[in-house]
Amino acid sequence: MRVIVVGAGILGASTAYHLAREGCDVTLIDRADEGRATAAGAGIVCPWGSPIEDAPTYTLLAGGARYYPDFTAMLAEDGEQDLGYARVGGLYVPADPAELDAVERRVRFRATDWPVGHVERLAPSQANALFPPLRPHQPALFVSGGARVDGRRLAAALRRAAVKHGARFVIGSAELVLKGNRASGVRVEGEVMEADFVVIAAGAWAPKMLEPTGLSLPVAPQRGQIVHLRRPGTDTARWPVLMPLNSYYLLAFEDSRVVVGASRETNSGFDHRLTAAGVAEVLNAGLAVAPGLASWTLHEIRIGFRPLADDNRPKLGPVPGVDNLLVGNGLGPSGLTMGPYCGRLLAEAVLGKSVDFGPFALGRRT
Ligand SMILES: Cc1cc2nc3c(=O)[nH]c(=O)nc-3n(C[C@H](O)[C@H](O)[C@H](O)COP(=O)(O)OP(=O)(O)OC[C@H]3O[C@@H](n4cnc5c(N)ncnc54)[C@H](O)[C@@H]3O)c2cc1C
Repeated sequence: MRVIVVGAGILGASTAYHLAREGCDVTLIDRADEGRATAAGAGIVCPWGSPIEDAPTYTLLAGGARYYPDFTAMLAEDGEQDLGYARVGGLYVPADPAELDAVERRVRFRATDWPVGHVERLAPSQANALFPPLRPHQPALFVSGGARVDGRRLAAALRRAAVKHGARFVIGSAELVLKGNRASGVRVEGEVMEADFVVIAAGAWAPKMLEPTGLSLPVAPQRGQIVHLRRPGTDTARWPVLMPLNSYYLLAFEDSRVVVGASRETNSGFDHRLTAAGVAEVLNAGLAVAPGLASWTLHEIRIGFRPLADDNRPKLGPVPGVDNLLVGNGLGPSGLTMGPYCGRLLAEAVLGKSVDFGPFALGRRT
């Protein structure tokens, strides 16, 4: 079966990889837009303490976290291990320590969701030992199954692995080609490519691409500005993810790097700019939690447009009234957690397996 996947962020790359592994003839197309979310995403995979109340979305998030160990093992079989993925643990560090009770209740209630791991209250000195720049006197809740991943490296690994399984990777801008009520392929720089199935995983840019179908995808870009700090020589490889539960967070990677995120600028449009207020907001929030980072080098600031649905729920499944066309979108602030798993679900749907997209189905608002 010939399948075209548009968008090589985490969702499209995962879909293409799973399809290529199953022997499909896959073409993955990407335009490398400035501000693509996967290249800017922080990479926290630790949903269990999240105050999220929407049960279906939480279930998908938890499914995403649960899928990671098998998923990374599968990539390792394909020779791809440079993902920046590590189960370093998550550390909840709210400014008001009384909030630790509520987060601990949530985590313990969800602790049946493998791979939560062990859950433990830490004294300030223990928390500081795990993440030295953390503010003093900060008690914490540690969840050992929390992980982080580098979205850029993971998406690149998925593309390479898909190609190893025979996929073709094309750089270009795709337009949907419809024949009657059927998606027959795409047009890329004037050339029509035909397919038996088209999957559109074009992130925040997808609504425009879907206009010819008559579907009004309720997704818009939400800008995130995210700061990378470095102090060469510091061994940050095992530092846990810090979650103060105030919408900001800090996480570390192997190369003496700490990432501080992020602004959430709804109604930003595709305005690809760093702003004084956005950067100040993120730095202030980060340094309030980890003042020990004040002397670190300001290494890089990234911008990403989260594909955010108007009801904050992912949008997954067939486009009503159009045959052979699937959409994956709306992963919002949690796409690096859910993306690999959602890509597998989309691939299964293409392959004709029964997948119930239920509350995430397009056109559904319940
Ligand atoms: C600052 C920030 C921090 C985040 N932190 C986390 C986190 O800690 N944990 C977490 O789970 N998630 C996080 N996220 C969310 C996550 O990054 C996104 O939900 C996810 O990356 C969305 O992936 P995507 O593949 O849907 O979209 P994208 O990564 O945006 O990919 C869409 C791709 O489609 C391409 N495209 C668009 N139109 C066309 C076209 N017509 N033709 C060809 N190609 C096209 C684009 O160029 C782009 O490459 C964060 C996001 C941001 C911005």
